[in-house]
Amino acid sequence: SSPPSHHLSTPEEISSFVDQMDTFIFDCDGVLWLGNDTIKGAPEFLHELVAKGKRIIYVTNNSSKSRKTYVGKFKKLGFPAEPDNIFGSAYAAAYYLKNMLNFPADKKVYVVGMQGIVDELAEMGIQAVGAGDDNAPLQETEFENGTLGPDESIGAVLLGFDSQINYRKYAKAFTYLTANKGKVHFLATNEDRTYPISGSIYPGTGSLLAALIHSVNRRPDAVLGKPSQNMMNTILERFHLDPARTCMVGDRLDTDIAFGKLGKLHTLLVMTGVTSVEERDAKKGPVTAEYWIESVGHLRQR
Ligand code: PLP
Ligand code: CA
Repeated sequence: SSPPSHHLSTPEEISSFVDQMDTFIFDCDGVLWLGNDTIKGAPEFLHELVAKGKRIIYVTNNSSKSRKTYVGKFKKLGFPAEPDNIFGSAYAAAYYLKNMLNFPADKKVYVVGMQGIVDELAEMGIQAVGAGDDNAPLQETEFENGTLGPDESIGAVLLGFDSQINYRKYAKAFTYLTANKGKVHFLATNEDRTYPISGSIYPGTGSLLAALIHSVNRRPDAVLGKPSQNMMNTILERFHLDPARTCMVGDRLDTDIAFGKLGKLHTLLVMTGVTSVEERDAKKGPVTAEYWIESVGHLRQR
C-alpha cells in the first residue's frame, strides 16, 4: 500500500512545492469551478503561476464542449486560457480517431453525444452523424420501416455525455456495432459514473455508456478521457514536459489522480470536488494522492 497523502499546510511547504514544478495540469470541474461558480482564489492562484513563468494545462473529462468553446468559459470565469492548453475528452477522442486509427475520410462517426464532439471531429476533418440530429423521440412506425438499419458508411461509434440521450440513439449505436461483424470501432470519451452540477450529483457518461456496453456485450476499444494515457503521452510530447517537474491537480481519485500517477507525475488532491475525507485517507483505496490541500485557493502566496 502507498504512503498516506501529505497535507500541504505551511506557507514554506507550499512555496517549496510550487518551486519544484514547471508545469501544472489542472482538472476543471471540482478544482477550478463547480458548474458556473468559481472556486475561491483559483483564478488568482493561476495568474500567480503565469507570473512565475509556470506552464498551465487543463484536462477535463467533460465532452460537451470543444476547446474553442471552453476558452470562452475560462475567460468568463477569469482564468488564463488558450485552445492549445485545453484538453477535453471530446478533443482526445477526435485526436485518437485521426492519429491512432487513421480514420478514413470516406467513413463517418456515429456520435451519441453533444456539439463539442461534433465540432472537434470537424476540426480533424472527420464526418459525424447522429448527435443533435437524432434528438427526436422514436416513433413506433420507425421500428418497421428500416430507418434504424445498418449503414455501411459508419466506421465508428463514439459515445460521450448526452443530456438528450434516447432510445433512437441507443438503437442506432447498437445496430452499427453489431452489424458488419464487429468491424466498427467502439469508442467513448470518458467513464465517470457521476458528475457534480449546481450543488447536485447526476449520472455521468459512464452510466450512459453502461447501457450500450450491456446491449452489445462488448467493452469499448478505447475510453479516451482520464485516466487514459493516450492524452497524457500527447501532452508530455507536445510540450516536452519533464514528469518529475509536473503536477496533476484533481478532485477525483479514479480519474485525475490515477491519470497523474500512471504518467509518473506528482499528484495533488483538492477537497473542493467529489472526494470525501474518508476516501482521501482510505488505506485500501484505489489510489492515493501524493499531496492534498483544501483548495487551489489555499496555494496562493500570503
Ligand atoms: N462529464 C460531464 C458531462 C460533466 O459535466 C463533467 C463536469 O461538469 C465531467 C464529466 C467532469 O469533468 P472534469 O474532468 O473537468 O471534472
Ligand atoms: Ca473533476
